[in-house]
Amino acid sequence: MTASPKTAAQPRTGRRAVAALVLLVGCLALQPGAEAATPATPAALAPDLGREVLAADDGWAAEGAGTTGGSAADDAHVFTVRNRAQLVAALDGGSAVPKIIRIAGTIDANTDDRGRELGCADYATDGYELPAYLAAYDPRTWGGAKPSGPQEEARQASAARQAERVELRIGSNTTLVGLGRTAVLRGASLQVRDADNVIVRNLELRDAYDCFPVWQPNTGGLGDWKTAYDTLWLRGATHVWVDHVTASDRGHPDEKEPTYFGRNYLRHDGLLDITNGSDLVTVSWSRFQEHDKAILIGNGDTVTTDRGKLRVTLHHNEFDAVVQRAPRVRFGQVHLYNNRYVVPEGAAYRYSVGVSTESRIVAENNSFTTPGHVEAADLLKSWNGSALAQSGNEFNGFPVDLLAIYNAYNSGSERDLTADVGWTPALHGPVDSAARAATDVARGAGAGRAG
Ligand code: CA
Repeated sequence: MTASPKTAAQPRTGRRAVAALVLLVGCLALQPGAEAATPATPAALAPDLGREVLAADDGWAAEGAGTTGGSAADDAHVFTVRNRAQLVAALDGGSAVPKIIRIAGTIDANTDDRGRELGCADYATDGYELPAYLAAYDPRTWGGAKPSGPQEEARQASAARQAERVELRIGSNTTLVGLGRTAVLRGASLQVRDADNVIVRNLELRDAYDCFPVWQPNTGGLGDWKTAYDTLWLRGATHVWVDHVTASDRGHPDEKEPTYFGRNYLRHDGLLDITNGSDLVTVSWSRFQEHDKAILIGNGDTVTTDRGKLRVTLHHNEFDAVVQRAPRVRFGQVHLYNNRYVVPEGAAYRYSVGVSTESRIVAENNSFTTPGHVEAADLLKSWNGSALAQSGNEFNGFPVDLLAIYNAYNSGSERDLTADVGWTPALHGPVDSAARAATDVARGAGAGRAG
C-alpha cells in the first residue's frame, strides 16, 4: 500500500494575492490587440491552465481563501507526465508541496513500474478464481452470511494488489491538469483525502474498473455486488475545484457485465463521491456519462459529523446516460444550477436528483431531456429528505416545477418536500436560463474544452 501522505496544511496567507496576480497577468495577456501585434502560435495563445485559479465567486470552493491548487508551484514542481510511474512520482505520495502536474496523452493506472499493462489475472493471487468464488458464496448454498473463508480472503488479497496500482492520492496545493485536448487517465481511482486546495481540470477520467467485486448478501434486500473504486473520491477534502473533467465507464459499461446471483456484476462505483467531512467544492463544466451512480454527496444517514459540511456547487455540467445520483445528497447545502441532463432513448434510468437526510439542495435553471417513458415525477427521488428549493428548470423544453410534481406524484412512503432549505446561494457566477445553459453545456462542457 502507499505510504501515508503528508497532509500538513500549507500556509494559506497570500493565496488571494497570488490569485489576483495570476488573474492580472491573464488580463494583460488578453488586452485587445495584444494577439494581433505579434503572430503567435496556437500553443502560445492557449492559456496555461495549470496556473489558473478558481474565480473569486465561483461556487462553494471560492469560500474563504478560495481554491488555487498548485498555481503557486515553483518551476521545480511543474511536471509533465506520460505514464503511471511519472504520475506517481509527481504526486509525491500526496505531499502538500505546491505542484502542477500535466498529464500528456493517455496514462493507464493498470500498469507495472515498467509500463507493462496489467490485467485482472495479473492481480489475482492466493488461488482466487471467479468461478470458485461464485461456487463458494452462492446464496442457495452459502445463505445470507457475509462471505468468509479462503476465496474471500483470496479476493481481498487480489483486490489489495489492484488497489496498490490504481488508487492515486492527490495532496494539498495540487493542480492536476490535462495537457491539450486528449489527456486521459484510465483505470485510476483518484483520491483527495484529508487535503485542502486541489484543482482537477481538463482531464478525461475513464473506467475505474474493479477486478474483484465483493458479494454483499444483505444489501438492498436481494444482496448486491459492491465495487471499490470511485473515479474521483473526495474524502475529508476541502477547497476542491473540478472543472472540464469527463468521467465515464467508457470501454467497460456495466450493462454489458453478466448477472451473478441475480444481480448485475457491477465493476464501477461512483464517478465522483464527496464524503466524510468534505466541504467547499465546485464542480463545473464537466461531463458525467455512461454510468450508473454518478455523484454521491454524503455516504451515510448516520454520519452526523457531515452536518454543516458537504457544501458543493454543481454548475454547467452534463449528465448523459447516467442512471442515478446526479447527485444524491445527504446533509449538504448543494447549489445545482445550469446543468444539462440527457437520458438517451433506451438508456437505463432511475432518477436524477436524490434528496436524502438533511440535504438542502437549491436546483435552479437546469435542463432535463428524456425519452417518453421518463416523466417529470421521476426526476427527483427522496429518501428521508425534507426540502428542496427550485426554480427555472425545464423538462423537455417546458418549464417544470420539480417540487410540485414530486409532491403530487409521491406515492406516500416519503413525506412531501418543502421549499424551505434555509439558505440562499451567494457564491456563483451568472445564472442563465435553462435553455441557454443547455446549449452552452452541450458545446463547452467536458475535457478538452477548457480555455
Ligand atoms: Ca464510493
